[in-house]
Amino acid sequence: MKTYDFLVLGGGSAGFNAARVAAGLGLKTAVVDGARDLGGLCILRGCMPSKTLLYTAEVLHRAQQGGKFGLKIPSARPNMRAIHARKVKLIGEFAAYRKQALANAKFDLIRAYARFRDAHTLELTNGQVLRARHVLISTGSKVSVPPVPGLADATAWTSDEVLDLDFVPPSVLVLGGGIVACELAQFLRRIGTQVTLIQRSPHLLRDHSPEASAVVRQAFEDEGIECFTGTQIERITQTQQGTAVTFLQGGKRRTRRAAHLFNALGREPNTAGLNLGAAGVRTRPDGQIIINRWQQTSVPHIYAGGDCSGPHEIVHLAIQQGELAARHAAGLKSLKPLDGSLLLSVVFTDPQLATIGRLERELDAAGQPYRSASYPFNDHGKSILMEANYGYVKVLAEPKRGRILGAEIVGRDAGELIHAFSGPLAMRATVFDLLRAPWYHPTLAEIITYPLEELADQIRPPTKPA
Ligand SMILES: Cc1cc2nc3c(=O)[nH]c(=O)nc-3n(C[C@H](O)[C@H](O)[C@H](O)COP(=O)(O)OP(=O)(O)OC[C@H]3O[C@@H](n4cnc5c(N)ncnc54)[C@H](O)[C@@H]3O)c2cc1C
Repeated sequence: MKTYDFLVLGGGSAGFNAARVAAGLGLKTAVVDGARDLGGLCILRGCMPSKTLLYTAEVLHRAQQGGKFGLKIPSARPNMRAIHARKVKLIGEFAAYRKQALANAKFDLIRAYARFRDAHTLELTNGQVLRARHVLISTGSKVSVPPVPGLADATAWTSDEVLDLDFVPPSVLVLGGGIVACELAQFLRRIGTQVTLIQRSPHLLRDHSPEASAVVRQAFEDEGIECFTGTQIERITQTQQGTAVTFLQGGKRRTRRAAHLFNALGREPNTAGLNLGAAGVRTRPDGQIIINRWQQTSVPHIYAGGDCSGPHEIVHLAIQQGELAARHAAGLKSLKPLDGSLLLSVVFTDPQLATIGRLERELDAAGQPYRSASYPFNDHGKSILMEANYGYVKVLAEPKRGRILGAEIVGRDAGELIHAFSGPLAMRATVFDLLRAPWYHPTLAEIITYPLEELADQIRPPTKPA
């Protein structure tokens, strides 16, 4: 029976990067992945196709807004076949690159699905049985179908189908108000679909602040997306014309109909088929694998990373988790666990919503004192000339020395702007450090200096000359 030092189940973002690091550290490593198309969720059906389409929809939207800039653009309409073909081509290229990296790596690639026979033995669907000193479970996530009445029997699209559209659907009911729901609802609206978004939580993007969510919602409604939040779905019925969703909101019963239904209610860990019980690996009730700060599961030589263990479905974290697991398994000394105070998140709606570090909700819960200051995009020269008026930049800092604790940006290109804080936060910089840095005029990034200046004044008020 073949034995590996480090056996990786799943060759997506977490698994591929873990295997690369493990093999580089001299561990005899293999990746087992049974997918017909290799590449993982991010490349094939996640980040990359969604951002390709969202960017296209943004270009279209800007062209349609040409009048605001004094431009006559007689017609700006989507050619869905061309949009689809471009997406297929780009994703094909990204996936081919990853496949090549997987095939030409210093580790073995085995095209099969795996399940545990015991804590050191894996059975593969190709009949092979492998032994492993260490295992990394990085099997990702799958779309969940929560027990909403009628959902299981309805014909519902998932993000996979929306990302593969080659026509403009006339109307879509979007169930959910998380990141995928919001990003793709706006894509659909911008290509010309009538979109109704129905969400259970009281505000869109419930993991974010109500203030930030309200800006995104305003932009959505200005573009003609009908949003219902704080709802309870009573039933989903399939009709000849499409789907009807009946729900309660504020004591009122409403029904909305559309040609298509999009289930964007979230994803769940893809762990059910792994026979984790045989290995003694513990999970939460939803199948999420329980890990410690070194990515070890309840069985110390078995690690987990990426969407199957969470706690966030974010690619750069999946990569960091996989790499950490590999280094830990290799016995490297002086490792550091991932720093939760550096959590970075981006929602690619327009306006984008990006956060880093710790914000009010978390700081209040921890009883940690802070100062905060914010500045709106509609009062900043560069954003005004760009007609990018939605949103604000908010910065939070520790009240004595002014160390930056977190930032929230809602606005044009917030996903790029937030990186102005990544390095400084990692280096534990203060608002005074950031104010010593140069900020070019006129840029969008320059807006960040206004809340920084306000915080500097709050923390060390300017003294009058003697
Ligand atoms: C529409 C959409 C947009 C997104 N956009 C973003 C974004 O902009 N930014 C961001 O950071 N994140 C985004 N995400 C989330 C991101 O894609 C995921 O967090 C990330 O891809 C998860 O990587 P992973 O390695 O955990 O899993 P995956 O990449 O899903 O890899 C899991 C692999 O395991 C394999 N596998 C499954 N079971 C077995 C088994 N039993 N044996 C062997 N192999 C197995 C699968 O074939 C698969 O290749 C998005 C997700 C979606 C759905």
